[in-house]
Amino acid sequence: MAKGMGGARQPLARQRPKVAAGKKALGRVGAAPTKKRTTGGPPPKAKVPPKPKTSATIPSPTLTKSRKAAAGPAAKRRPIKQLSGQALTAHATAVWDHLAALYPDAHCELDFRSPWELLVATILSAQCTDKRVNMVTPHLFAAYPTPAALAAATPQAVEEIIKSTGFFRAKAKSILGAAAAITDRHQGEVPPRMEDLVVLPGVGRKTANVVLGNAFDINHGVVVDTHVGRLAIRLGLTSETDPVKVEQRLMQAFPQERWTLLSHLLIWHGRRVCDARKPRCGDCSLRHICPSSLV
Ligand code: SF4
Repeated sequence: MAKGMGGARQPLARQRPKVAAGKKALGRVGAAPTKKRTTGGPPPKAKVPPKPKTSATIPSPTLTKSRKAAAGPAAKRRPIKQLSGQALTAHATAVWDHLAALYPDAHCELDFRSPWELLVATILSAQCTDKRVNMVTPHLFAAYPTPAALAAATPQAVEEIIKSTGFFRAKAKSILGAAAAITDRHQGEVPPRMEDLVVLPGVGRKTANVVLGNAFDINHGVVVDTHVGRLAIRLGLTSETDPVKVEQRLMQAFPQERWTLLSHLLIWHGRRVCDARKPRCGDCSLRHICPSSLV
């Protein structure tokens, strides 16, 4: 599992306009007429609209990335032609065949023994490595083995255990809230339905897809984390940067029974070969079918 698996859904690219708001406003159609300056002195200051307030959540690593940054250096060389229909399906099949041959053992790298443990581990994995989460969760589940036990814990006690995963206050709030909701509404069992999962505290579509796919063997969607989003662009599977649109596109390109494993294959390749900043195209067995190959 990659960094950011349990974070809030955010577009991969959210670029700010390059021109200052005040400069644009002068020539905008429909803007209020401005008075001509007849005397000297400093020019009037342009009004800068206030920044929208955001709630305190675990930031997504994709939030600050532009489209090019999301795709990395491999995407800067030339525009990638967007495939559709049969051409997309054929390309997706070729990508699958290569990745499946490369990583026959690809799987979720978060340790878990139950849907509940995977749900908690996925929430903790936001902005954190799976390795670190796997070091923390045994202590957490030894102290609080069930959702009911965790729901009765104090935030301070939980924060202390999960501190090293980062953003521990927000994460403690999420897992305590999820524990309480699962105890109260679902008799202590994680519900195996997307619509029930996404209303739990700290659980978005991505986390729900992780749980459904890996704990329940339900291919409800494709987990789109930073690796999956980046590789989907580099491999010419999509030009979208919004995780929801990337997921839709991948769901069109690949048969449903492959959705859960597809994300693991892309994540494994992203971690081992197709690095965000330095993709090792020379060592990549997909370079012949990859439109972003640098070799
Ligand atoms: S050739 Fe391989 S390493 Fe290079 S961009 Fe494509 S998938 Fe990534």
